[in-house]
Amino acid sequence: MKMADSRIFQPFRLRPAIKDYIWGGTRLRDEYGKKSSLERLAESWELSCHPDGMSVIDSGICEGMTLGEYIERYPAQAGSVCRDMPFFPVLVKLIDARNDLSVQVHPDDEYALEHENSYGKTEMWYVIDCEPGAELVYGFKERLTREQFREAIDNGTLMELVNRVPVKKGDTFFIPSGTLHAIGRGMLIAEIQQNSNITYRVYDYGRLGADGKPRELHTEKAIEVTCLAPPPEQPEQSIHESETGAAVRELAQCRYFRVTEHDINGSTQISTGDTSFGHILVIEGSAVLSGHDFSLDIKKGDSIFLPAGCGMSSISGRCRIIHTAVPEDTKQL
Ligand code: ZN
Repeated sequence: MKMADSRIFQPFRLRPAIKDYIWGGTRLRDEYGKKSSLERLAESWELSCHPDGMSVIDSGICEGMTLGEYIERYPAQAGSVCRDMPFFPVLVKLIDARNDLSVQVHPDDEYALEHENSYGKTEMWYVIDCEPGAELVYGFKERLTREQFREAIDNGTLMELVNRVPVKKGDTFFIPSGTLHAIGRGMLIAEIQQNSNITYRVYDYGRLGADGKPRELHTEKAIEVTCLAPPPEQPEQSIHESETGAAVRELAQCRYFRVTEHDINGSTQISTGDTSFGHILVIEGSAVLSGHDFSLDIKKGDSIFLPAGCGMSSISGRCRIIHTAVPEDTKQL
């Protein structure tokens, strides 16, 4: 039997799928190096195996292959925890909200698998940058009944009942499925979420879509899945110095993803074991990512896939990255 070329298992760069939703801006092109002929770059899907927009491998021996094709061909490189999952578990995006996003909710796995043949969506946001006064919608101010929720949607008074939260650079928000939410204008966000594109929209500021018609609302489904109690407090985040000197902050840990921020000034190491792939999103600065048989220059806006089992990689330079992996003890579905 022929041995697989070991270069297949080296970390590689990803090129995102770009979405031009009506509320998007141009910062992903102007400041984060995203290339697209589209006018608005609302979202770049940085780590995506979703059929609505796949990442494409942009370096190394598998260049040109979609990430979905790569995982199908080399499933062990997604990691052992992903082996029995019906779909690749995680989607990572950059979002440039020049205008307000619609107020929306996502279903949980149970509902989405039954009604949409998809995962539900729990997500987290990391505010990379924002304008002064930027705020987002996060759940309700007070507990509602289903009837009150329906009435507020029908009468256009929903925005009086939602919980608005001011944001600043570096803030993170954990959004469990069922939480009503909206990203507000003037924010650039990294979103780490379950691999799902199921969104139930309940309010869209009376805007018209690209076709000149109001975008569809999904009131009935939203009422079925929305949690009507105010959201819990965001968990405390701990920062610790890694042994090699980077400041590491735990941003989110749930059954679907574990997300950490690494503020690197010098050199640090990232370990990628057999249980999960790793994903690095560079949000500031530049560095060199290297291992015993590869080296990649990385800079602000770049996305790197670390195949499961690729071992120790070192990052040398001055940069801030977001690292995502699937937790070992995941009991997904
Ligand atoms: Zn959402």
